[in-house]
Amino acid sequence: MRAVDIIIKKREHGELSAEEIKFFVDGFTRGDIPDYQVSAWAMAVLLNGMTPRETTDLTLAMAHSGEILDLTGVVDIAMDKHSTGGVGDKTSLVVLPVVVACGLPVGKMSGRGLGFSGGTLDKLESIPGYRVDLTTDEFKKQLKEDGIVLTGQSLDLAPADGKLYALRDVTGTVQSIPLIASSIMSKKIAAGAQAIVLDVKVGLGAFMETLDEARNLASLMVDIGRLAGREVVPLLSDMNQPLGEAVGNSLEVLEAIDTLHGHGPADFTEHCLLVSAHMLALGRRVPNLESGRRMAEAVITSGAALEKFRVLVGAQDGDVSFVDNPGKFPKAKIIEVVKADRSGYLSQVHARLIGEASVALGAGRARKGDPVDHAVGFIIHHKVGERVEKDEPLFTIHASEVGKQVEARERLREAFKWSDEPVAPLPLFYY
Ligand code: URA
Repeated sequence: MRAVDIIIKKREHGELSAEEIKFFVDGFTRGDIPDYQVSAWAMAVLLNGMTPRETTDLTLAMAHSGEILDLTGVVDIAMDKHSTGGVGDKTSLVVLPVVVACGLPVGKMSGRGLGFSGGTLDKLESIPGYRVDLTTDEFKKQLKEDGIVLTGQSLDLAPADGKLYALRDVTGTVQSIPLIASSIMSKKIAAGAQAIVLDVKVGLGAFMETLDEARNLASLMVDIGRLAGREVVPLLSDMNQPLGEAVGNSLEVLEAIDTLHGHGPADFTEHCLLVSAHMLALGRRVPNLESGRRMAEAVITSGAALEKFRVLVGAQDGDVSFVDNPGKFPKAKIIEVVKADRSGYLSQVHARLIGEASVALGAGRARKGDPVDHAVGFIIHHKVGERVEKDEPLFTIHASEVGKQVEARERLREAFKWSDEPVAPLPLFYY
């Protein structure tokens, strides 16, 4: 077999066999197939697509390109959740402690920020000492003993995806439904997940901007899961505007801690309760979503979920005193409350523009490996559909220097659109 023939076959709209896909994935994992051929192939896939069968074969080949984590004997059911990425999405920081407090252990491997979308690992690292580099043995031990793990992906899981993702990022080939589905599902399968709640984000601040695309991605991931013997429950959630109020690493951790105290923003709290309910139902801890939601609410009210967050932070060498005394998180040098320059109803709070502005402030990375500034970001005080009066606080900027503060102010003003007529609020989920 030759890599060039596989590229040409895809260029000519052919359907690749399982053997051809495996040959290609194994070849580029070993380094035998060079980056330029992998890039050409990724572009052919982006332009001409893949059938569900090809996508499943690609997923399995990438999952098997490294170690497959076996969690039998560690947990009854290896549960996972995954969000396709968005702005202000700190859901894992709340949902994991909630479901663990409800008796469902979860060990999760998360990622870093990518482009305008934030990453759970960057958020967690705003807690001094918090380790995101657990070894496989440490992962299993902590999951067995504490029932909760939130760490980075160890290098030996789905290495093919790591290589392919880095190339896609710089060759304009991220936005392909088969490539996104196989990228996500290969990591979940390699991480040993048997049951997965997938939070597919849709809207201006998501990889999938339209509901049709998001539905296609969701159903493809369900099919891949089924063919690979995993249970997958897909949710479609709104990402036209940021989730919650905080955007930026330590600001989001603070909001997650508030939410675990029962004082989080209404939209974010509701989002977390519903995702938790789905996980609890999928993990057979409750008979239906309604009782899952009630159970999730109860562990927030009792403080049990917050306690699990403390256990998580302590187990991964983070300074738990930051959870107990959130005033210890370092503050940005400049904090500016920007007021509305008019009255009206908000018709748009553009999540991607806000995500990009937070990257420009230093909360995310322009290039892989760049450091992030944990203290900077935004608080967005209003949601689409709300009536805002002139001179009410619209957003707050947390910046490290004046130049960036000024730029952020201009960029954020662009993110807000106004209407004189009442505007319907955005839904949290789409069905
Ligand atoms: N998240 C992933 O892990 N992979 C993609 O391709 C897109 C989002």
